[in-house]
Amino acid sequence: FVEAIPAVRPARHQKVEIEGRLIAVSNRVARPSEGVSPGGLASALSDALTAQGGTWLGWSGKTIADGTEPDVTATTVDDVVYSLLDLPADDYRGFYEGYANAFLWPVFHGRSDLAVHRPAEFRAYAAVNRAYAEATARIAGPDDLVWVHDYHFLLLGKMLREAGVGSTLGLFLHIPVPEPAAFRAVPEARRLAEALMHFDTIGVQTARDAARLAEAVAGLGEGVVLNRPGVIEVRAFGERVRIKALPIGIDVGALRGELYAPTPPEVRAYLDGLGGRRAILGVDRLDYSKGLPEKLAAFGAFLAADPARADEVVLTQIAPISRGSVSAYAHLRQEVEALAGRINGEFGSLSRHPLQLLTRPYGRRAVAHLMAHADVGLVTPLADGMNLVAKEFVAAQDVDDPGVLVLSRFAGAAEAMEAALVVDPRDADGLASAIERALAMPLRERRERHRALIASVARDDVGHWTTQCLEELIAAG
Ligand code: ADP
Repeated sequence: FVEAIPAVRPARHQKVEIEGRLIAVSNRVARPSEGVSPGGLASALSDALTAQGGTWLGWSGKTIADGTEPDVTATTVDDVVYSLLDLPADDYRGFYEGYANAFLWPVFHGRSDLAVHRPAEFRAYAAVNRAYAEATARIAGPDDLVWVHDYHFLLLGKMLREAGVGSTLGLFLHIPVPEPAAFRAVPEARRLAEALMHFDTIGVQTARDAARLAEAVAGLGEGVVLNRPGVIEVRAFGERVRIKALPIGIDVGALRGELYAPTPPEVRAYLDGLGGRRAILGVDRLDYSKGLPEKLAAFGAFLAADPARADEVVLTQIAPISRGSVSAYAHLRQEVEALAGRINGEFGSLSRHPLQLLTRPYGRRAVAHLMAHADVGLVTPLADGMNLVAKEFVAAQDVDDPGVLVLSRFAGAAEAMEAALVVDPRDADGLASAIERALAMPLRERRERHRALIASVARDDVGHWTTQCLEELIAAG
């Protein structure tokens, strides 16, 4: 069984034969020269392009004067062309901070109450999508596969066709799909749905997302939904599109490779300081989709049930500040900090605090080592496309003495991780009981659950995801 876990070999993508070239489009691009270790999506795309060769189109990180034309600079490293766009500052802000992150993100995460809709930001979103369509049209040939990523580019399929691109077009949506009623309530819903129909295939994280997207888009276009084995076909707006659940995975080998490196000194000091207390760990961006107030409230309920527990456990919650310029995030930060202060004030003592809230980012190695030494991982989003932290926590465990994953049923990851302690994060008492159960779980049960979890995390890894996505693009062409 231990053999099933790749030790240090990263799960690199194996080349898939395609006729033309691969063109990946995403907002952010990780260039090898940048030397920073990219996040999940960026490293998956980087692997795919390195294996396949091709072009990666994305934002350069630079904005230019408003009213000027977007500018594209291409550089080639080995077989990969990095085609990077400089975008007018106002357009980029309206597109990224505005329509994408202050409007689409909350709507798609079931928080329409937090969504800020400004027509000018939709116009900026459309302008940026148009700039990407034009840049893609200059390089895409009929045999190429264009692989577009995420909610930043919902209009791109149609705009690519309008720009004369004849390539196969695929979108992968990394975030969850909301209830069809919430989708329909978007002022531009029909326009988005019609534009989505111009992709040949749309990949989503879960079967539930696939069904919801099909229902929303078909409903808006008075179309039909055809359920076929493993794939849904929608016919609407005079077009047809395939929608398929293709859950993203992690690079198990790369994560376990971090554990072969010495424990970073700060983590070592933390572990030494535990002094026999059990470690509960949370690692999330400070985002309202992650259910942080609910998690802290449940931890408060867990302590309230037996205040002596404050000397026996510590919850370390790493929650780096994210999207600080969007107002909902500033409010969330205040709420989480206030709750953390209250819990420590109420249950802490002169010598110990049961909760550590850290709002700065930690490196991948430190996070991997924290995960490996945690007794319990708390992954409790209210909505999440996949949630890679859940998979990373499983991959980081010692197979002989594994920690326990407590996982929200609203994370996409829960669809394939039934062996976790699956919870409804809105139920504070239920979550408090799950923490209790996780801490008390016998070794045998921990091993059994972990064995089932690591089998799926290792099998459905990021290399598998990339291959499946490319095969789906080929099938859709
Ligand atoms: P999201 O993409 O919404 O942030 P995911 O869980 O899918 O959520 O992916 C987050 C990625 O970022 C994971 O690879 C995780 O390890 C990493 N990450 C999240 N929070 C931190 C943190 N505080 N420090 C370092 N890495 C983090």
